[in-house]
Amino acid sequence: MLQRFKRLFTRKASPAGTPLQIPASRYQMSPADVSPGAREVVEKLEAAGHRALVVGGCVRDTLLGKKVKDFDIATDATPEQVRTLFRRARIVGRRFQIVHVHMGRELVEVTTFRAPHQQTDEAGTGRAHRELARRNQRGILLRDNVFGSLEEDAERRDFTINAIYYDPTADQLLDFVGGLEDIAQQSLRIIGDPAVRFREDPVRMLRAARFRAKLGFTLHPATAEPMNQLRPLLAEVPPARLFDELVKLLMTGHGVAAYEALCEYGLLEYLLPDTAAATADPDAERFLRQALINTDQRIANHQRVTPGFLFAALLWPPIIHTAARLESGKGTGAALGQAISEVLARAVRHVAIPRRFSTPAREIWELQQRLEQPHRKSAEQLLGHPRFRAGYDFLLLREQSGELPGGAGEWWTGYQEASGADREAMLAELQPAPRSRRRRRSRRRAPATDAE
Ligand code: ATP
Ligand code: MG
Repeated sequence: MLQRFKRLFTRKASPAGTPLQIPASRYQMSPADVSPGAREVVEKLEAAGHRALVVGGCVRDTLLGKKVKDFDIATDATPEQVRTLFRRARIVGRRFQIVHVHMGRELVEVTTFRAPHQQTDEAGTGRAHRELARRNQRGILLRDNVFGSLEEDAERRDFTINAIYYDPTADQLLDFVGGLEDIAQQSLRIIGDPAVRFREDPVRMLRAARFRAKLGFTLHPATAEPMNQLRPLLAEVPPARLFDELVKLLMTGHGVAAYEALCEYGLLEYLLPDTAAATADPDAERFLRQALINTDQRIANHQRVTPGFLFAALLWPPIIHTAARLESGKGTGAALGQAISEVLARAVRHVAIPRRFSTPAREIWELQQRLEQPHRKSAEQLLGHPRFRAGYDFLLLREQSGELPGGAGEWWTGYQEASGADREAMLAELQPAPRSRRRRRSRRRAPATDAE
């Protein structure tokens, strides 16, 4: 599909300051590429006298022949005006207000044209403006609600390939920033001064990694250049936003490529520092890759993936490293428990993993020792554990990556498939709870050895 785009792409000069206006048919795009809900939103806004265009990932992905995730609309109507035009519409966000418009089962995001900010905004403008746009001392935008023109809106977007507008009424593409050319070049180029734009919103560095992974495009050298120095600014991004971004990076079908991009740009250590440190160990690296290969495959097969399982995998290498360090002083179980608490506590300082995901992750970790050594008494009970399936999949992942020798996984596979009588036979072959026996025996034996 990219080849098709390249074939269709012709460089067309436009007088300075005017956008490249191109009939969409040139790129074999038509109003039919826009979802019914998004088209209705555009029509309604236009009927009320506003300007409304489709923009962002949906235009980019349509041009590339990729499946479109959702539709974003840009308009000159204010969020309040948008809200009152639709029956099921809600203004969301504070830092950056958008309107969620529900059309049937579809969610359409409508944003008002924004103006870019000059570094002088704070000093040079009045109080009202400061309320709408705020930065901290390091240039990070804390609020971004200064409305502007369509041209200004194009300039405040992140990458040129994300700033191509489609006007379904005129059936025209509008390109103010060379986005079409960058698609043809497979280049990820940030709009404006890269250092300023990454400072304003360090998450754009993560978005660079995501689009690199999703599209296979390369970062334009000028865009890549300041990242080395600005990566530490990710520490200033609220951990809840980093969690969302990390899920988008790793759980949308190109997790392996995203992981590689995060490592290549040195970003992983600002998201999951313990995991990044653990990847120095080739076994840990193999385990993480395998987890992401499996996640990508499951998504490709339309199987369910959960952040609980993914985070269980991402934090497992540092957990076993930490447990191994602690083990000399305590039993294996106690060391693992403490390692889990330590690693999780450190992780959530960077990436806010909600409890509804960290609790299942913890259960998956805690099931591992019991699954590794099935016992006569506990096997049936474990099978009924609400987290059994995830724990078992995790055990298989550990065996598949070579962290554990095979055996237990296969046993559990057989046990689940077996009928009642066969299950009894499988249980009969198992050791009856060897751990408690060992404990009893050693307690009895210890004084005797002393006496000898
Ligand atoms: P996808 O939907 O595939 O994740 P997308 O490009 O549509 O990709 P969204 O997060 O949906 O990404 O954002 C929609 C559009 O809003 C982007 O294409 C871009 O133009 C703009 N945008 C999003 N996040 C930022 C940001 N942090 N800084 C500047 N512009 C942004
Ligand atoms: Mg989008």
